[in-house]
Amino acid sequence: MTTPKSPLFNRLALIGVGLIGSSIARAARAQGVVRSIAATARSPATRRRVAELGLADQVTETNAAAVEGADLVIVCIPVGACGEVAREIGPHLMTGATVSDVGSVKGSVVRDMAPHLPGGVHFVPAHPVAGTEYSGPDAGFAELFVNRWCILTPPANADAQAVERLAAFWRALGSNVDTMTAEHHDLVLAVTSHLPHLIAYTIVGTADELSQVTRSEVLQYSAGGFRDFTRIAASDPTMWRDVFLANKDAVLEMLGRFNEDVSALTRAIRRGDGEALFNHFARTRAIRKGIVAIGQDSPAPDFGRPHPDLPHTPLPRPYAAEGE
Ligand code: NAP
Repeated sequence: MTTPKSPLFNRLALIGVGLIGSSIARAARAQGVVRSIAATARSPATRRRVAELGLADQVTETNAAAVEGADLVIVCIPVGACGEVAREIGPHLMTGATVSDVGSVKGSVVRDMAPHLPGGVHFVPAHPVAGTEYSGPDAGFAELFVNRWCILTPPANADAQAVERLAAFWRALGSNVDTMTAEHHDLVLAVTSHLPHLIAYTIVGTADELSQVTRSEVLQYSAGGFRDFTRIAASDPTMWRDVFLANKDAVLEMLGRFNEDVSALTRAIRRGDGEALFNHFARTRAIRKGIVAIGQDSPAPDFGRPHPDLPHTPLPRPYAAEGE
């Protein structure tokens, strides 16, 4: 990350300070890209925690107070709540301010937020394609966006300077920035992110229903692949409920294709068609190598996590044995 010579924005307002909002606060501070940060969250408990962690110069009680005088407003809440927040902040936005978000779905955010934003405000939706399965203000860290993509989906008539300024902000936080339409974003993310999460939620749920197995063998032998699904399936339920509701059409389209491919593999297994299975797996292995080659994951085995001397961490309930 390179430190810009002067701040890109005077006052950043963050609405919602969970994993993403708190990571933006930490990174923006570390990189000196804003002069001050105002932040707010829905619950008093989160606002208190944000103040305790010193993530913002000012923690406000309301969304309206947070955006007063802000030249950059980033809404960092579940996508289903963005419209209501836009309605609330619309009358309080400063002329010339840039309003953005971090939602994992873009079409619905544009549809829900844009009508509430006054003329003279630049609306540039964004999606940092970076995250973990953890939530809340304690979960964030300044390096979250380094070498990760941030996709901007400005409307066709967006002010080019405002788009470039927001792109510079994300680049200063360490991201690579790409621009595309909201519709295209939603289709791409349906297959690269939303469908994988749905598959993980499904398979972990399926294993859980086999409760005899789940409590013993599935956990014991989880390094066989199951463990990586459980990490994804631990992602925030509210966020992911909203993602599937908001990106319904694209997810259903990708799910249809996925089901066809599962049927083809099912057929190959049933018919003992080893060649079909081998060719499919060889193709997918090449995709993994491509992801490593472009620096989006580590080539180290086990997804780069050290494992031989893992400290003992107790299993989460309900899997942990009594007393663990
Ligand atoms: P998070 O850690 O759960 O934090 C969510 C924040 O939104 C909290 O401050 C919460 O306030 C607030 N909030 C929740 N429901 C709200 C509502 N109905 N109205 C107003 N505020 C509400 O979530 P996150 O992971 O940072 O995700 C935030 C956004 O980033 C989502 O749109 C998600 O799609 C997107 N995103 C997430 C990831 C990821 O991997 N997690 C990656 C890229 C983008 P309280 O704490 O007070 O309840």
